[in-house]
Amino acid sequence: MTGTVEQVGAPVIELGLPLVGGSHQRSSAGTAGLEVSEADRSERFAQMRAGELGSLHSWELVTAVDGPGTRLTTFLAGCPLRCLYCHNPDTMEMRRGEPVLAEELLRRIARYVPAFSVTGGGLTISGGEPLMQPAFVARLLRGAKELGVHTAIDTSGYLGAHCTDAMLADIDLVLLDVKSGIPETYKRTTGRELQPTLDFGRRVAASGTEIWIRFVLVPGLTDAVENVDAVADYVATLSTVSRVEVLPFHQMGRDKWASLGMDYELEDAQPPSPELVARVRQQFRDRGLTVF
Ligand code: SF4
Repeated sequence: MTGTVEQVGAPVIELGLPLVGGSHQRSSAGTAGLEVSEADRSERFAQMRAGELGSLHSWELVTAVDGPGTRLTTFLAGCPLRCLYCHNPDTMEMRRGEPVLAEELLRRIARYVPAFSVTGGGLTISGGEPLMQPAFVARLLRGAKELGVHTAIDTSGYLGAHCTDAMLADIDLVLLDVKSGIPETYKRTTGRELQPTLDFGRRVAASGTEIWIRFVLVPGLTDAVENVDAVADYVATLSTVSRVEVLPFHQMGRDKWASLGMDYELEDAQPPSPELVARVRQQFRDRGLTVF
């Protein structure tokens, strides 16, 4: 978005690191050690507007998360939400990312086509919020489809209006993070409104695109029976949802908040008990949903 584009002030970076991955393993390559090329400020601005250049926080190769098979997950920088439980608060600001060319990322993606083919994997664009950089994401999606690669985006849906029909046609799977089902709870959890997420989910379902739902369970914040019921009732109306992931809250992001000098309101929050997780999963199963 134009208000943040000017914040990208670093040189353009070319990806040059090998990626290492494994089952249930996250091996972030970050963006460290990458070859840097020169581009002046006005050129970067034009490239970002055209979607040729994006702000990337990090990337990694994963298996069994972020979609089916082995996935190259890219974490874009910038997010309009301020989730109290965010475990990557360093992705909230676009200026904290590194400028990377779409063609550079696509070259990297092309190298992993054989691995994607063998495992049924592909590209997942996460964040931050991918739809903060729609032109860049559109270019990545189109390029990936031209390579025959399965594509997924991991989004809150809050900026769903940024996703054009052409982009949606290039997405095979939407990982839709529904952070709460009651508007007041959603606002308390994220600082934003719930409605855009509901609208985007309905539009994705109407398009026939597969959806995986993600719901982060935080005791004392998102765990109220009526809040979970509201999420589950909504999800049950989306005909293309094939799975629901209930993600128990953890404190692994706490140190990042401190290192960024940001107030962390969930300092004393505890992970949910097994009984609570079971109750919430059952609330989704009661609607006939497949739950993980
Ligand atoms: S949507 Fe994701 S990246 Fe953005 S604040 Fe929430 S948890 Fe963090």
